[in-house]
Order: sequence, then C-alpha cells, then structure tokens
Amino acid sequence: VICLLAGGTGGAKLARGIADVAGAEELTVIANTGDDVEVYGVHVSPDPDLITYWLADRIDERGWGIEGDTWHVMDALEAAGRPAWFRLGDADLAMCLVRTEALRRGARLTDAHAEVVHAMGVGSRVLPMSDDPVRTRVRTPRGWSDFQEFMIVQRSEGPVEEVQFDGAAEAHPSPEVLEALAAADAIVIGPSNPIISIGPILAVPGIREALVDARAPVVAVSPFVRGEVVKGPTEAFMAGAGLPPGTPGAAAAYEGLLDGFVADERVPGLDAPLLQTDVLMDGAEPRRRVAQETLDFAAGLGR
Ligand code: GDP
Repeated sequence: VICLLAGGTGGAKLARGIADVAGAEELTVIANTGDDVEVYGVHVSPDPDLITYWLADRIDERGWGIEGDTWHVMDALEAAGRPAWFRLGDADLAMCLVRTEALRRGARLTDAHAEVVHAMGVGSRVLPMSDDPVRTRVRTPRGWSDFQEFMIVQRSEGPVEEVQFDGAAEAHPSPEVLEALAAADAIVIGPSNPIISIGPILAVPGIREALVDARAPVVAVSPFVRGEVVKGPTEAFMAGAGLPPGTPGAAAAYEGLLDGFVADERVPGLDAPLLQTDVLMDGAEPRRRVAQETLDFAAGLGR
C-alpha cells in the first residue's frame, strides 16, 4: 500500500497518478483538514473533497469542485441577501450534506468522509488526518484571519507573518492514519504547500513520529516546478516560516523526515538521495510518469 500525504491541488494530482499506476485500492491518502470550515449548515472539507473529486475523475477544470456543477443554491442564497463568498456548486454541496448527515448521526469525520468517497465511486481511501478539529489561521499586517477568509476574501494577499493550527496540539491522528503509515510500503509527501497543506498534518502529535518509525521509506515530491509555484500562495507561506524560497525551502521544511526527495533541480545541502526529474503534472501522462518514477525511486531506497 502507498500512503500519500496531501493538501489540495498538487497532492491531488499525484494521488490521481498513483491510483493510475499502482491501482486505486493500493492508495491511501492522508488529507489535510486544517482548511475545513462550517458554512451554510454543512461541514466542508476542501482538501479531502478535492482529492476525492480528482480520484473520481470528476474534478472541474477550474481546479476545484465537481465538473459541470450548477449553482442554484448559491444563486438563491445571494438573492436572499445571504453572504455567498464561499462558493459551493450544487453537487459539491450535496457531498457536504452526505458528510454532515453522517457527522450528525455521530460518525467520526473519517467515516463521514468515507461516505463521500463511496458516493463518488472512488476505490482508494481518503483519510482525514484527524477526527478532531484543527483550524489553520493566518496572520498578516491586517491581523488574524481564518484560512478561507484569507484565501478567498483577501485573495491570499501577504505578507504572511504567522500561521497557527488551532486545535492541533490537542488533536489525535485517527487509528486509520496510524495503521496506514505503519503498514505502508512507501510513504509519499505530495507536492503540496509545505506550510499550510502538509504543515497541519505534521502538526498533529504522533504523525511525525509515525513517519519516522514507519518501515517504509518516506519520499517527498517538490511542489515547485522550474523554481516556480504552479498555483497558490506557497511562496508567501514559506517566506513567513523563514524558509528559503523554492525547492530548497521545501526540502528544508521536511528536514529529518526524508529518505528521498524528488525535484527538477539539484538541492544543495539535501541530506537524502535526490531523484532529479520533471515534476510538472499537466496531464494524465505526466501525472502517471511522476507517480511511477517516485514509486520506483522509493522502492530502491532503504530505511
Ligand atoms: P491547495 O490546498 O489547493 O493550495 O493545494 P496544495 O497545497 O496541494 O497545492 C499547492 C501546491 O501544488 C503549489 O505549491 C503548486 O506549486 C503545487 N503544484 C500544483 N501543480 C503541480 C504540479 O503539476 N507539479 C508539482 N510538482 N507541483 C504542483
């Protein structure tokens, strides 16, 4: 089994590639829930959902939400004078209702999200990093904001001065997460934002230790392509965390955790073997190639 740590965009694309080359049943994704939010009476899990929609081949070309979705609920909310800045398409909202109904019955977030995964016909497992609430908050010169407010209302404008994962210190990894890490044949840290996508996962006490103790090699794929971010405010967050820009900063963010690193450039001072290859996943073929090369690389690494 391959265990992938992932946020949204970059991690989700690699999840799709791994499912293609290794088989859906062979993939377990551990997803960031620091971006989760309660809106319109539902529990939204943006990263686990994005990953699930990618794995279902239903991701919309805008990069989030379900393909061809309609917007009747949002239009009606706007017409009713309700704030509707957090956009959820109708089918996307339906998946949030599936999750929220399960939570109201008393299900854990892990089981509630599994119902979404099942509803989308996905054969891989997509595990929230924890059943406990963790909420990412961002401080800029304008003060503290919730993550979604920072990303959407403030259009992710930095500089980012500080990031906090509220609740992380008291959160526990789910038993499924710990079992998946212990049983994995390879553990891959996806090309997601090291601070706000992978950071919350590693901030849950016990997960970092589970990576260190795992029998499988841990390999990270750089979220930088030719030194640049493909999408999102990764640079602002790395600068805010005092990390060097670009691929060297991503490697530094995972110092002490890696048995291997995959990037398209040499990384001075890297304390693990490097697989140097093109890491742009702009289609099904490159997604499969990056996935296959990463898995082959991991298979050749010892612990
Ligand atoms: P978010 O929650 O949607 O911001 O998701 P992530 O943190 O997973 O994704 C943002 C990161 O994915 C950015 O740093 C991007 O550079 C990276 N990314 C997006 N597409 C690709 C790709 O094709 N290849 C690589 N290596 N990274 C990518």
